[in-house]
Amino acid sequence: MKAVIIGAGMGGLSAAIALKQLGIDVTVYEQVTENKPVGAAISVWSNGVKCLNHLGLAEETAALGGIVDSMSYLDGFTGDTMCRFSMAPLIDEVGQRPYPVARAELQLMLMEAYGYADINFGKKMISVTDGPDAATVEFADGTIDSADVVIAADGAKSRTRDYVLGTPAQRRYAGYVNFNGLVAADDEIGPATEWTTYVGDGRRVSVMPVAGDRFYFFFDVPMPADAPYERGSAREVLTAEFADWAPGVHKLIAALDPAATNRVEIFDLDPFHTWVAGRVALLGDAAHNTTPDIGQGGCSAMEDAVALQFSFRDHPDNVSAALAAYQSSRTERAAELVLRARKRCDVTHAKDPAKTAAWYDELRHEDGTNIIAGIVGNIVGGPLT
Ligand SMILES: Cc1cc2nc3c(=O)[nH]c(=O)nc-3n(C[C@H](O)[C@H](O)[C@H](O)COP(=O)(O)OP(=O)(O)OC[C@H]3O[C@@H](n4cnc5c(N)ncnc54)[C@H](O)[C@@H]3O)c2cc1C
Repeated sequence: MKAVIIGAGMGGLSAAIALKQLGIDVTVYEQVTENKPVGAAISVWSNGVKCLNHLGLAEETAALGGIVDSMSYLDGFTGDTMCRFSMAPLIDEVGQRPYPVARAELQLMLMEAYGYADINFGKKMISVTDGPDAATVEFADGTIDSADVVIAADGAKSRTRDYVLGTPAQRRYAGYVNFNGLVAADDEIGPATEWTTYVGDGRRVSVMPVAGDRFYFFFDVPMPADAPYERGSAREVLTAEFADWAPGVHKLIAALDPAATNRVEIFDLDPFHTWVAGRVALLGDAAHNTTPDIGQGGCSAMEDAVALQFSFRDHPDNVSAALAAYQSSRTERAAELVLRARKRCDVTHAKDPAKTAAWYDELRHEDGTNIIAGIVGNIVGGPLT
């Protein structure tokens, strides 16, 4: 059996490794010409780590991951601690530590596990067609390829999604912009093994450790879509936006590299339940585009990859049965995560300021129990949990 995978992001690469492990002949096509992911890092929660472990990457993932022993919320303006608690109960309950990792390093790990030299870079897919015996993809350079199955892991702006749904899907602006990057870990910003989050006025500033004594940082700033922004001006913008915030936030703004700081407008997509058309199946953000507010988009893509492997394992010679099993095992779970993230997004970013004020009040009385229960709720429910 031959599979073509469109997209060498974390979803496509996880799927490529997963299918290759079954002995399927896998070909990966990627439009960019090198490993250059958008975004600095991600938090791979325990469900995502379990998927990577399942793909044989336990040691490699742990080597890239930051150690998060505790979590804290601080008042953004004063820097006073609202709550601080251990992650041990979460790790004990779900049986796996989460790992924040630098994106480029995660991508490289997956590329090497699949076979870097076997990735067809610089191949932009422009169309897909399905037939009784094969699905065929066409590339911008005029070449084509055919396979028993095409897995479209072509990301949040997936053009394959339009093909599968038969109509273009409209993404929804979530109301905020996320600035993110990597800086050297610094106790004046937050403890080295803590996920520290400053909150206030519907804004959020967070640092979490990744390997190599670095922090992954991000700033969430509510603002209209398409606000003007000059590339490289992150320090000026953030200094103005967070002028009256705590010293730790100013330390972070001074430490970041403006040229390497990403600015991303955050969108999501209403969940939908048709992921398969004939021999073509969506995977990752193409199938479920979420806001990053619970850190589950990439983890979900990894869950898709494992579920796809299980589906082809259970239906080895039957593409249609395998893809039906894949779709039915994933759409509800992925939809739930998209909607959970949307809800969290609205509270964090003050869609209703009274609800956000109530949340800040809760944080001042939190011992970790409620937050950990919420995170466990996100983590459980995938193919390995
Ligand atoms: C600010 C931010 C923070 C996030 N934080 C987290 C987090 O902490 N935890 C988490 O789990 N998730 C997080 N996410 C979500 C995560 O980044 C995505 O869910 C994940 O990248 C999806 O992987 P993917 O492979 O489906 O898509 P992508 O990573 O977008 O990869 C798609 C690939 O397909 C390629 N491609 C697209 N079109 C074509 C084409 N026509 N032909 C060939 N190739 C094509 C692209 O170049 C790209 O390489 C975050 C997202 C954002 C925006």
